[in-house]
Amino acid sequence: MSKSALGLGTNNLEAFWMPFSANRQFKQNPRLLVSAKDMHFKSADGREILDGTAGLWCCNAGHSRPKIVEAVQKQVAELDYAPAFQMGHPKVFELAARLAAMLPSPIDHVFFTNSGSESVDTALKIALAYHRAKGNGTKTKLIGRERGYHGVGFGGISVGGISGNRKTFGNALGGVDHIRHTHDLARNAFTRGEPEYGVEFADDLEKVIALHDASNIAAVIVEPVAGSTGVLIPPKGYLQRLREICTKNDILLIFDEVITGFGRLGTPFAVDYFGVVPDLITTAKGITSGVIPMGAVFASKQIYDAFMTGPENMIELFHGYTYSGHPIACAAALATLDTYEEEGLLTRAAELSDYWADALHALKGLPHVIDIRNLGLIGAIELEPIPGAPTKRAFQAFLDAYEKGVLIRTTGDIIALSPPLIITKGQIEHLFDTLADVLKNLA
Ligand code: PMP
Repeated sequence: MSKSALGLGTNNLEAFWMPFSANRQFKQNPRLLVSAKDMHFKSADGREILDGTAGLWCCNAGHSRPKIVEAVQKQVAELDYAPAFQMGHPKVFELAARLAAMLPSPIDHVFFTNSGSESVDTALKIALAYHRAKGNGTKTKLIGRERGYHGVGFGGISVGGISGNRKTFGNALGGVDHIRHTHDLARNAFTRGEPEYGVEFADDLEKVIALHDASNIAAVIVEPVAGSTGVLIPPKGYLQRLREICTKNDILLIFDEVITGFGRLGTPFAVDYFGVVPDLITTAKGITSGVIPMGAVFASKQIYDAFMTGPENMIELFHGYTYSGHPIACAAALATLDTYEEEGLLTRAAELSDYWADALHALKGLPHVIDIRNLGLIGAIELEPIPGAPTKRAFQAFLDAYEKGVLIRTTGDIIALSPPLIITKGQIEHLFDTLADVLKNLA
């Protein structure tokens, strides 16, 4: 479709420097979305696009849900902003209390941010400051994992394990090490749910501790299920073992639940699914169902209490954002939680997950498919790489699926799926029928 047919002047696409996008390619053939409702976007050329990815893993309640829309409209007219420092407004306290009540003990405090990246950098800073507050100032090293994605702040790209996000920018933070990722195609290909093999990957942490010494290590951060690098499900027992090693060595465990939070696995959080409680949890995305930017860090009582020791009129943590706990984001989040609760969405993925897994794993045997994996309402299809080819097959699949009215997401050779939690069985069928068609016709 030509730019003028989209109602754009010739140069109108130029000024916007798009994030994580092939700008020049996109601007040749733009994909513009102009409205959204429930499970569908509408494109500028008037087509309905089934959302197979909940936007960017965030619109868990679906799109433009009436209760959330209304709450945002009401809030912006009533209290558009309140200073975030040394001041408050009722909804930020209400939201924190409500979130804390959703979390397993001893996680009971909430620090608000505006994104996943900010949540990650906030959690890393809290971890460092916590050890100092406890008199353990040498505990400064941070441990991430290969193929981890923790946003794009300097903290996040440092603990993250994606070379593309790091190599362009020279030095990241010092004092960071990584353990291996858990993706083991040789042993676990086409596993449904949690892979059987690989619990011993957690023992990497013992090796890193032996190398640096526990007295120098502040925290370990992992995604319970790595999302952005292609849906890597942890082997059975892996997260439990990480927890045990961290506890034994007084190292804080941080779960980055920016994707897994708010119902993606069929439980409110991945901590509930795996029965493993970290010390800090980072979230964003589903907290407002993607409607307004917001993130949060959930902290254990022990961590919060460690800061609450000095004189009462002193600031305890020198950290925060102008928009921490923004009233409109809080209103959106409260209405989102209402929607999740009223519609049973935080457990809906559990009810649909067998159906989802059957439909997804039925793609086994299609051309180029070398692995399929799933958990809750997440799925991934890994395609055989083309050695030396600049364009990945998966990206072509994304373009072809979009032409057929289905939005999927790709990362390298992997197709990732994470629909809104309101998806119906009929829509799941349509999603995978379309994808099967796309894969059959892929060069
Ligand atoms: N952590 C994880 C696990 C994520 O998946 C993401 C985003 N995909 C982030 C952090 C960063 O979130 P944001 O883009 O909101 O900064």
